[in-house]
Amino acid sequence: MSEILVLVEHVDGEVKKVTLELLTLARGQGAPSAVWAGPGYTEEARAKLAEYGAEKVYVADSQEIVDYVVAPKAELLAQLVSAASAGGVLIAATGEGKEIAGRLAIKTDSGVITDAVGLGEGFVADQSVFGGGVNVRSRVAKGTPIVAVRPNSVTPEPAAGAGAEERVSVTLSDAARAARVAERVKEEKGARPELAEAAIVVSGGRGVGSAEDFALIEHLADSLGAAVGASRAATDLGWYPHQFQVGQTGKTVSPQLYIAVGISGAIQHRAGMQTAKTIIAVNKDSEAPIFELADFGVVGDLFQVVPQLVEEIEKR
Ligand code: FAD
Repeated sequence: MSEILVLVEHVDGEVKKVTLELLTLARGQGAPSAVWAGPGYTEEARAKLAEYGAEKVYVADSQEIVDYVVAPKAELLAQLVSAASAGGVLIAATGEGKEIAGRLAIKTDSGVITDAVGLGEGFVADQSVFGGGVNVRSRVAKGTPIVAVRPNSVTPEPAAGAGAEERVSVTLSDAARAARVAERVKEEKGARPELAEAAIVVSGGRGVGSAEDFALIEHLADSLGAAVGASRAATDLGWYPHQFQVGQTGKTVSPQLYIAVGISGAIQHRAGMQTAKTIIAVNKDSEAPIFELADFGVVGDLFQVVPQLVEEIEKR
């Protein structure tokens, strides 16, 4: 069985859920090998990766890998693709992940698929393209398949793997050292789940009306254990921080449930959320385009609908 490389997403030494999803998908393609890049590796991390099927864990935990922007991770993966004769590579379809996937494709002379939301036998991917406008089924026709998969595309299933640790070092090329990280700005990490990984997302748009009234969106999110998102109109107006923007130029989310409150449903917003499993829209305009996409819609004033919704949820 060929090795399928899975690039581990980790924060403060903790393996992120999307990696467990990728390992679950990798098991359907071959023998998963997790690739840890950067500092923070621990025995707990190795055990977690093995619990979800990693037969091997390649560890490249030098600081240098994260001192430069993105390129070292692509070089590390390219080195492993060649050394292990890998049958494919899975990467999370985050902003960084997609850039790594693209660079890796160039280095290995392979095809790449980004924004996959499913992966069938033989690396056939269900993919969301043209800013989310079209869903297609694609397969890489050249080289080693490289697929960037959106978080929440699959439920992670444990299945014990050997988790054999193998230390690797990467010799960075001059090109990989071209862009040095000046400062890493830590994203605010509150009590809520992380936006890109959350099972439920509640987003507010221009209809919310002010920064203060975003408390209403937060209240609904908290009653459901959800993450908060926002449209670009809301973030551009300074009502909510930009890191929470959902859409073409913001984050891509693919939760089980997405609740759009006071959001019209512009194509650029849809690009970031339309692969959500269930979409609920609250909008006072029955003609708002978001209703074309929504599974359930409430036509009404959000200042009436949302407090009633919270009250009902909190009763249960
Ligand atoms: P609006 O379109 O103004 O909609 C507000 C909605 O709220 C309306 O439907 C209205 O009926 C409803 N409403 C008002 N009051 C109430 C009330 N009291 N109760 C209930 N409903 C109410 N947008 C993004 O979101 N993400 C992106 O990443 C993004 N990237 C972009 C990239 C480019 C290159 C461009 C050109 C645009 C991008 N946009 C993006 C902007 C996008 O085109 C829209 O302008 C934006 O999504 C609109 O945000 P909105 O739905 O909150 O506001």
